[in-house]
Amino acid sequence: MPEKALNISSPTHVLKGIGPAKFSALKEIGIETLFDLLNYFPRKYLDRTSISPIGSVINHARVNLVGKVEAAGMVRGRRRSFFKAVISDKSGMITLTWFNGANYISKSLKIGDRLAVSGKVEFYNGLQIIHPEYDKLNEDEDPLNSGIISPLYTIPASLKANKIDNLSLKKTIKTLISEIGNIPDYFSSSFRKKYNLILIDEALRQIHFPNSSNSLNNALYRLKFGEHFFFQLMMLSRKSFLNRLPSKALKKTGVQTKLIYNAIDFELTKAQKRVLKEIKEDISKSYAMNRLMQGDVGSGKTIIAILASAISVSNKVQVAIMAPTEILANQHYRSFKKYTDSAQISCALLVGGMPAKERNKILSGLKNHKIDIVIGTHALIQKDIEFNSLGLVVVDEQHRFGVNQRNLLIQKGINPHLLSMTATPIPRTLAITYHGDMDLSVIDEIPKNRIPVVTKMVDEKRLNKVYSFIIDEVKAGKQCMIVHPLIEESEKSDLLAAIDMYDTLSTTVFKELNVGLLHGRQDKLQKEKIMHDFSKNKINILLSTTVIEVGIDVPNATVMLIENAERFGLTQLHQLRGRVGRGSKKSYCILVQRKITEQSKKRLEIMESTNDGFKISDEDLKMRGPGEFFGIKQSGFFNFKIADLLLDGAMVKDARTAAEKILNNNLDALRHSHQNIYNELLRLYKDRLGQLLPKG
Ligand code: ADP
Ligand code: MG
Repeated sequence: MPEKALNISSPTHVLKGIGPAKFSALKEIGIETLFDLLNYFPRKYLDRTSISPIGSVINHARVNLVGKVEAAGMVRGRRRSFFKAVISDKSGMITLTWFNGANYISKSLKIGDRLAVSGKVEFYNGLQIIHPEYDKLNEDEDPLNSGIISPLYTIPASLKANKIDNLSLKKTIKTLISEIGNIPDYFSSSFRKKYNLILIDEALRQIHFPNSSNSLNNALYRLKFGEHFFFQLMMLSRKSFLNRLPSKALKKTGVQTKLIYNAIDFELTKAQKRVLKEIKEDISKSYAMNRLMQGDVGSGKTIIAILASAISVSNKVQVAIMAPTEILANQHYRSFKKYTDSAQISCALLVGGMPAKERNKILSGLKNHKIDIVIGTHALIQKDIEFNSLGLVVVDEQHRFGVNQRNLLIQKGINPHLLSMTATPIPRTLAITYHGDMDLSVIDEIPKNRIPVVTKMVDEKRLNKVYSFIIDEVKAGKQCMIVHPLIEESEKSDLLAAIDMYDTLSTTVFKELNVGLLHGRQDKLQKEKIMHDFSKNKINILLSTTVIEVGIDVPNATVMLIENAERFGLTQLHQLRGRVGRGSKKSYCILVQRKITEQSKKRLEIMESTNDGFKISDEDLKMRGPGEFFGIKQSGFFNFKIADLLLDGAMVKDARTAAEKILNNNLDALRHSHQNIYNELLRLYKDRLGQLLPKG
């Protein structure tokens, strides 16, 4: 033991073996201090139970093996050289082959090395593994003989290039752990006892070199729980801060609201009434509302937004509605106008690329309060747009906007009430994480007049039958949409494919019908005209790229044909399907598969089997993971090191409860009652807590 324990905040070069080159390599991947290094957790572990005897492996199996290198060398192939090694244990031997990176490996592997390898066994002149993952082991660390659980770290190329491999990293961390002093815990012993947590000091040591699988599990639990806990604590602090922002209380229901309410030609569902009540209660308080309205496609969110806007206008404040696309903004504008005109509410549309004169008129109308409600796209957040008294902000498809964009709109008022909307039903554990700083309202009911959409997968061969079915539907007065995928990288060729198909279909099978084409490259007026014609049934069949995805509401459309359906994700397919079945007519969703993969087949089968948005989003989440699920590059939301939103379901709820109890609504109080937890929260989330920290 050294005289004096190492200090956790020292740079890594205080460790033996970490010179300037290795120090910079580590720094490049975010490891600067000993503390960072200690928090670089293994990606997986090798132990006796996960390792197979080499003699027992069979063709096609995925295996972990440990063995000694008996022979190794470059082999001259017909076209290029490759590297081969043979490893053995007491039970047998197997060949490892590398075609790529053979030079690097030939330099780093020697006869006599002990290797841990993972990969898939194949048969080709004997059993072998091609391009296995591999790590060198120390003799005394062989998990087979010693019973040790051996860590495997992620070693990025930049570390490898600086001679840091699994073995050397393991050594370094081992040294660190033996020389580092006690790491103080920010959780009190009563807190740890309550939530069954081991000491942080023990957890950080055991996560690298566990004594047993039991102690590894305890360490994992402690560290995962910690991550969830502080994340929830951060979200709850934000929530309590946002909920205490003073705002104008919108108490009156008002004549205008009553006029609109009476003009609705259907009965609101129970769920809609409940959600409307929740919103009314929120905005009648003198603190800003911060609420997410979640409801499946077709559940009727728009009318709730209209009513909330009418209440706001009755209370003499302005409303801004922001939608992610022009098509959607346009449609909202039409939906709003249908009600607002007769209630003497002035409503305007603001999108990009408007003539200056028209735009200026809207700008001055917003400034002098001649306009009550403005509906638009990102165009609403431009600098020169000012409101007289912005009291309510509605953001549709809110996950399509960044936090900054939402904030820019909000900042155009003095703490206006905020209503966010999403058609993506989010599983609960994800909702309390991703939307943990908002109050949640769920429209969990579809209007009664709906008949579930019938969904069918077909292959190309049956397309002609499908086309004649479409013709029959059109002859019966109904309409159809055909959607083509548009994928960013290959935007052009997909667009061409859509145009080609339009040319073909409109001159052959559908030549008697009115066929329209809608895509992102058209100008605004063109798009508007096409959407307008479609909504008035002047177009029978609308061919489109995914610009049609969100929100389009044409109740007379009964067939949605999705081309190359295998290229869409589940949530997107569900959204597209939601464009039909919006009226009382029987509707169909036809999924044309062209390139079938195991995954795509599974997705389409799920689509056939259910119309339930919650089930679909659950499956989508399982198949894609939370980051992909929202379809946006995450703004650091799911940067958990070790916690896993999908697998830690129960733990997320426990962590949320624990955070609620500790916070007790007030960050300032937390600072006094739990100084250490407060400091740790600050360390982890300083930049994101930002403005809501108490002064001092
Ligand atoms: P979404 O929640 O997907 O935005 P919309 O608000 O566009 O759904 O509503 C879909 C359609 O259902 C619209 O035509 C709307 O007028 C209609 N609608 C909304 N609520 C009801 C209801 N309670 N009963 C019948 N139709 C309704
Ligand atoms: Mg909508």
